[in-house]
Amino acid sequence: MGRLDFQKIVAWLSYILRCPVCGHKYNLERTRIIDTKDERPALGASLLVHTDCDSCKSSVVFSIAIDGPEIFSIGMVTDLTSADTSKFKNRKPISPDEVIAAHEFLLTFNGDFRSVLR
Ligand SMILES: [Zn+2]
Repeated sequence: MGRLDFQKIVAWLSYILRCPVCGHKYNLERTRIIDTKDERPALGASLLVHTDCDSCKSSVVFSIAIDGPEIFSIGMVTDLTSADTSKFKNRKPISPDEVIAAHEFLLTFNGDFRSVLR
């Protein structure tokens, strides 16, 4: 296998992938490659693809792994835009301590977002 043409792969995927929420077929123009990895193109590659559904307006991030003739895809419904997905893809995961801190903050939060977000 030579170097993979990710644009062709995305065009093919947008033809076969359907929205997990409403079943609508994806529009190629609303499908963006967020990240690719093909350090070993003879063995395969992986892609992170973001797409918006024209019908129900939900967004899905697909993690796609290409292993020779086999393609595996996992879709996750998200409220992130493609720009958000690019922004957050290399961020550190939220730690248990951060979750506990948010929980403790919310226990006493009075609901006044204006004062908190200043
Ligand atoms: Zn949909």
